[in-house]
Amino acid sequence: MARYIGPVCRQCRREGMKLFLKGERCYSEKCAIEKRNFIPGQHGKDRKQKIVGYGLQLREKQKARRVYGMLETQFRNTFEKAAKMDGITGHNLLFLLERRLDNVVFRMGFGTSRPQSRQIVRHGHIQVNGRKVNIPS
Ligand code: SF4
Repeated sequence: MARYIGPVCRQCRREGMKLFLKGERCYSEKCAIEKRNFIPGQHGKDRKQKIVGYGLQLREKQKARRVYGMLETQFRNTFEKAAKMDGITGHNLLFLLERRLDNVVFRMGFGTSRPQSRQIVRHGHIQVNGRKVNIPS
């Protein structure tokens, strides 16, 4: 599955909060949120917009998607799967996202961030039930 390969700190700046995508750096004073906490782009400093309604929903969705390092199509497919399951869709969605192998590796403390854990998985360092697995999802 494809992954986002553009500027990373930009995503945190867009959401206005730390998404902890870079491991150690996120806890240092080098973090872009510490230094430039405004929307990225030429007019980012000038714009102080109030986000309501759909905009708010969109920002929350993007936040979740970016935290788990997924692109839109994969995230949407996961949501549709969650919607078909029994129970509360939001809970099911979180349940499916948390079960991703890269996230599990991150939660176990093998990587300092989810992107790093993803690389650990992609490079074949993880076995599940005795079998080498290199698919982060
Ligand atoms: Fe986000 Fe980490 Fe970059 Fe800070 S250093 S802006 S938390 S990715």
